[in-house]
Amino acid sequence: MEELKQRIVQEGTVKEGNVLKVDAFLNHQCDVELFDHMGAEWARLFADKQVDKILTIEASGIGIACVAAQHFGNVPVVFAKKYQSINLDGEQYATSIHSFTKQKDFHVIVGKRFLNEGEHVLIIDDFLANGCALNGLIELCEAAGVIVEGIGIAIEKGFQGGGDSLRERGYDLQSLAIVESMDPETGEVQFR
Ligand code: 5GP
Repeated sequence: MEELKQRIVQEGTVKEGNVLKVDAFLNHQCDVELFDHMGAEWARLFADKQVDKILTIEASGIGIACVAAQHFGNVPVVFAKKYQSINLDGEQYATSIHSFTKQKDFHVIVGKRFLNEGEHVLIIDDFLANGCALNGLIELCEAAGVIVEGIGIAIEKGFQGGGDSLRERGYDLQSLAIVESMDPETGEVQFR
């Protein structure tokens, strides 16, 4: 998606440790018009899919997923919640996810009543790096018996491999911008 790539080039900054900062439009300040265009693009890419619900993870996924839902007939958006520690009461599906940016593990839960067996789900998230966040969301979907129709990602860092392994596993993964390389010295970002 050319518009997103332009914004990354113009406003993104490359940090040490393979972190791309896009706070100006995606992760802190939100450009809702851009989110709307991203939603339209995912709707085009997943036009042949049945989408009953969108699943994402807090916090940055929520905004983009909610705007995208308007392009999928205003389906409900469910977001997985992150907890430092967990007391399971049987009412939640739970798993553990390693956070790339925070370098620690989070427990992640979704209330059982919000993922119903047989539902068709589209997963949406802001970034894909090693794939830990998505693997956790997929685990929750498997536990609930829902069908993962596709995965929509805003920015995939292709050089970290999480995306390619999900594609090899057969998931219909559509990333709106795939970063092939980025240089913290020059700030240069190259796309696939
Ligand atoms: P993964 O679990 O695929 O390794 O990393 C994906 C998650 O880590 C995303 O949900 C996102 O929150 C965060 N993340 C990974 N890489 C970056 C990055 O370069 N920039 C930002 N802002 N977040 C990232």
